[in-house]
Amino acid sequence: MSTNNNISKNNKQGKNKKPFNPKDPKNVKTNTFWVYGLVILGIMAIQLFLYPSDSSKETTFFKFIEMVRNNDVKKVEVINKSIANVYIKKDKKDKYEELKDRKKDIFGPDFSFQIGDMRTFDQEMMKLKKEGFEIDPILKTKQDWVGPILNWLLPIIILIGLWMFLMRRMGAGGGPGSQIFNIGKSRAALFDKNAKVNISFKDVAGLKEAKQEVMEVVDFLKNPKKYTNLGGKIPKGVLLVGAPGTGKTLLAKAVAGEADVPFFSISGSDFVEMFVGVGASRVRDLFKQAREKAPCIVFIDEIDAIGRSRSKGALQGGNDERENTLNQLLVEMDGFKTDAGVILMAATNRPDVLDSALLRPGRFDRQIGIDLPDLKERKAIFEVHLKDIKSCNEVNTSYLAEMTPGFAGADIANVCNEAALVAARGDKKCVEMEDFNYALDRVIGGMEKRNKFIPPKEKRTIAYHEAGHAICGWFLENASPLIKVTIIPRGMGTLGYAQYLPKEEYIVKKEQLLDRMCMTLGGRAAEKNTFDKISTGAQNDLDQVTQMAYSMITVYGMDEKVGNVSFHAMSKDSFHKPYSEKTASMIDERVRELINTQFERAKSLLKEKSKELELLAERLLEKEVLIKSDVESLIGKRPFPIPAHEYHEEE
Ligand code: ADP
Ligand code: ZN
Repeated sequence: MSTNNNISKNNKQGKNKKPFNPKDPKNVKTNTFWVYGLVILGIMAIQLFLYPSDSSKETTFFKFIEMVRNNDVKKVEVINKSIANVYIKKDKKDKYEELKDRKKDIFGPDFSFQIGDMRTFDQEMMKLKKEGFEIDPILKTKQDWVGPILNWLLPIIILIGLWMFLMRRMGAGGGPGSQIFNIGKSRAALFDKNAKVNISFKDVAGLKEAKQEVMEVVDFLKNPKKYTNLGGKIPKGVLLVGAPGTGKTLLAKAVAGEADVPFFSISGSDFVEMFVGVGASRVRDLFKQAREKAPCIVFIDEIDAIGRSRSKGALQGGNDERENTLNQLLVEMDGFKTDAGVILMAATNRPDVLDSALLRPGRFDRQIGIDLPDLKERKAIFEVHLKDIKSCNEVNTSYLAEMTPGFAGADIANVCNEAALVAARGDKKCVEMEDFNYALDRVIGGMEKRNKFIPPKEKRTIAYHEAGHAICGWFLENASPLIKVTIIPRGMGTLGYAQYLPKEEYIVKKEQLLDRMCMTLGGRAAEKNTFDKISTGAQNDLDQVTQMAYSMITVYGMDEKVGNVSFHAMSKDSFHKPYSEKTASMIDERVRELINTQFERAKSLLKEKSKELELLAERLLEKEVLIKSDVESLIGKRPFPIPAHEYHEEE
């Protein structure tokens, strides 16, 4: 399909660029017809040459016997036991009327006839011999090769002819079929290349850090010389990572708007079509267009649709096609230098599934995380969207922001729109607060399926849970340093999280594992201490802890009672446990003891630091997101020194 496509494209280009192009449809026509004509003529010539007998006159067996009896026959040949060629004596030829018009062809046989049955033919010949006539048939075999060749050559010739015919019609651009061969190009219309993007950073609320990061790109697009003259390196690719509706597309557009450059946008899924080779050719086409319009921004939404790791998806169908597309994208990214002025921005919700080749330096080497907006940011987003809405009196955006935890920017835009619609339905002149409340209920109702909405009481539990993790981590020497803690739900399932700076270590000490375990249990311990209740929210924590405890005992041999044993290699055979029932129950018991000890440790630590826990949890409820410096200003610095090489945080 892709080659077809190229041909048709070339044809088009040839028409208006060069005076003569052998691929021009008109020339193709004449050329090929000459060739076909010559081939057919050749075949006919060969046939004439090999079968001069064709010019002989037809006769019958009985007439032939008569000829023999009249003594007119010079010789007779039997070809392939089926045809007899009769040669008449020179001086007798005039006797036959039929031979008058073919005197020129004196070497060929004069008559020929079909021998029905070879045996009767032989018998008749014997009879004639006995009668005294000198007749001796010469048996000959002739390979008839023209026939078979013609048999398979003819259909092919017809097919090729038909194909050429169709190609020309489609290439000419007429008829409904013409688009089929232009798939690789046709999506060009999708690239949204409004010369002017009228979105700027002031339309994007919040996202302070992300804006700072892309500011450099804006600067570069505005004044590329300034950077390239100094030999500076600008990222070719910026990957925006975040949940749907958090404003990734908006941010990319704003970058184009700020820099006043064209904005090409396409979704990753547009590249994945059922036709082979289409994705790759679309990528090629996109970059071709982009280079012509440089400096510009190319935005690829849902890049995971093509950028999925090549080995991971190996079991799925249509894989080769996606791989080709991805390879083409990589080739294109390597192919342009930064001074070409094309900057690629892409968005995904799942950076973990992306192929590592995409994230290598020189490709998407800059990643910007875009979180769900916190309280302050939600307020700002409401303010941006309320600008377009005619409200009756001052809208309490703080209240709206408080009512919308877990909302993405798109959800907030939706609330504002819904409120306006509701007001319009009620024939109101302006939007009132009750319209907003109604819209909130509707949007939350719609969201509940997608992303659980959290009532305030539950939010409190979550705040204490996450604060429990954070406090434990803060005061345990061997736990990883905290980066931030939030109670904004993240996608499905997780209600909040505390994020730590992971250490890249390959050998982990027992104390580290114990501290980590204690910290993981800290959430549940805080709930127990504060509310004397435990919730289901900690299930994921328990999973982790149990797994940790089992591997400490059965893999790393870290338990005194079970001893220095590791069942890791042996336990791969899942039918036979490599240890006795007695050992099994001992392991279970020790695991339970280990977890219990750490749970008690977490509880007593949190009791000791109950003031800090409360401070942190209440501030978390209020601000939803706390970063390390916030925690420091609340409860003081972490009482342990952090080795410089382990500490690389931006804040
Ligand atoms: P994504 O690409 O991350 O899925 P979009 O950029 O398409 O999300 O956002 C959808 C809509 O949500 C935007 O058109 C805008 O109206 C609104 N929106 C999202 N984030 C913001 C924000 N930070 N500020 C203002 N509006 C936002
Ligand atoms: Zn937890």
